[in-house]
Amino acid sequence: MTEKRIRSVLIVGGGTAGWMAAASLAKLLANMKFAVRLVESEQIGTVGVGEATIPPIIDFIRTLEIDENDIIRQIKATFKLGIAFRDWTRPGHIFFHPFGPTGFGMGPVSFQSYWLKMFLEGTAERLEEYNMQAKAAELGRFMRPVHAPNTPLNKITYALHFDASLFARYLRGYAEARGVVRTEGKIEQVLLRPEDGFVDSVVLDSGEKIEADLFIDCSGFRGLLIEEALKTGYEDWTHWLPCDRALAVPSENAGPPPPYTLATARDAGWQWRIPLQHRVGNGHVYCSGFTTDDEARRVLLANLEGRPLADPLQLRFTTGRRKKAWNKNVVALGLASGFLEPLESTSIHLVHRGIAMLVKFFPDRSFEQADIDRYNKIFEFEFGRVRDFLVLHYTHTERKGPFWEHCRNIPLTDGLEEKIELFRSHGRILREDTELFPVQSWLFVMAGQNIVPRGYDALADTLDPQKIRANLDNMRDVVRRCAEAMPRHQEFIDQNCSSFRSSIAAGLSPQPSAQPLHSFTLARGG
Ligand SMILES: Cc1cc2nc3c(=O)[nH]c(=O)nc-3n(C[C@H](O)[C@H](O)[C@H](O)COP(=O)(O)OP(=O)(O)OC[C@H]3O[C@@H](n4cnc5c(N)ncnc54)[C@H](O)[C@@H]3O)c2cc1C
Repeated sequence: MTEKRIRSVLIVGGGTAGWMAAASLAKLLANMKFAVRLVESEQIGTVGVGEATIPPIIDFIRTLEIDENDIIRQIKATFKLGIAFRDWTRPGHIFFHPFGPTGFGMGPVSFQSYWLKMFLEGTAERLEEYNMQAKAAELGRFMRPVHAPNTPLNKITYALHFDASLFARYLRGYAEARGVVRTEGKIEQVLLRPEDGFVDSVVLDSGEKIEADLFIDCSGFRGLLIEEALKTGYEDWTHWLPCDRALAVPSENAGPPPPYTLATARDAGWQWRIPLQHRVGNGHVYCSGFTTDDEARRVLLANLEGRPLADPLQLRFTTGRRKKAWNKNVVALGLASGFLEPLESTSIHLVHRGIAMLVKFFPDRSFEQADIDRYNKIFEFEFGRVRDFLVLHYTHTERKGPFWEHCRNIPLTDGLEEKIELFRSHGRILREDTELFPVQSWLFVMAGQNIVPRGYDALADTLDPQKIRANLDNMRDVVRRCAEAMPRHQEFIDQNCSSFRSSIAAGLSPQPSAQPLHSFTLARGG
């Protein structure tokens, strides 16, 4: 066994994926004592626009035993409680997809079952009223969970918005401090072993040849090893997710940062607004078949809340996934493994998932096919379920115009069709296996997009309607009171993790802050 162990790992690429992998291997598998090297090319650069995350990012940070406030300061992060979808269902409408649990069950009856019964009868409020994160986001408030038994303050669930380049830089420092060796250089050639087609080594523009037992391909969209060398193949999902371009531009803060991502539907796609401590990240994701680059740029710049700080950067992509994320002795992570557009901020999480699975199925030099097949099966399933969740956002809107008409006719996968039918019949939602999004995520988006069930779970009739009503009223009041008791998001940052503290110490002045521009009001009714 010992003689078959992996002795060296080469990570190709130093974007978010590469440095997440380097930091994780250096920390989690330190006892295996293999050498980890990372090659990146400044000349090629990184994508670096991934700025919104989902709650498992906090687990990632904690698993690496990184001080959360310290990293937040360094990567100029803000807190995220969910995503507000503006004008998605139709212009003028807004719904929220929050993190964290909503309500609680009454005996064997789930919150969603009795809430739906009352909602269909017109005596329950919109879901957002019962979710701590949604209410806090609406009021621009934030704090971490505290020990307050029987209140939703116990379970506040959050993620981060951050500057992805700073995140990668932070992880680089962390990884290098733990022995990862970085090499600056451009890989010009990938050499395969003639006997089995495994990757043997890479050759840099300097002429240096680097060998390794295991290669982690984090080289971005092109997939230098997984695709260009191993010809693994790519499944194009454009027929399900037709957006294929994005323009990204930072802008000045126009007020204190709201603790949520804003996704606003546009005529041929949608626009993100991601507040950071020092600036706002903005982007327009669009479908080139339904608008021009010039028009997309005009729409983006016309809808910024603050002054742009750079020229928009254009990115082109093909939504889909690599047919095998792990092929022979190459594991692809990040953009090299596939791309799902950033509507639900899932890419960085999928890197994290890939790393966690790699640790679980960590190979020796025999590279057992059963391990590789299982890894690929899990990856395929999880990627597919995230895709289905994204497709749902596009297929069920009432928006007019050629792009949205096209989206309404997107073919549903079997899994998605079943999910929607189960919900339409009695409001049922099941979470399968290791799929990422929990029941409540599907519930918020389906309800937010006005998919109205024909009936409700018969179990809800076993409860006394007056008791349900009293419970719901109590829940709504507790959620509101708790949210009102929380500090403002900006105050929380100032007190705990402001990046301006270190800037002030370094002689820089902070941005002025004004009132939030977009606290949203969630009106009742679809
Ligand atoms: C428009 C858009 C918006 C996004 N928004 C989000 C979001 O909000 N949330 C989220 O989670 N994710 C988001 N993402 C995804 C996120 O940006 C990426 O998943 C993440 O940054 C990982 O990128 P990467 O490291 O795989 O690739 P890259 O950043 O492209 O890095 C590739 C690395 O490979 C190196 N490289 C390539 N070729 C060679 C070579 N020949 N020799 C040496 N080195 C080489 C490069 O130098 C670079 O270091 C978004 C992506 C896009 C396109």
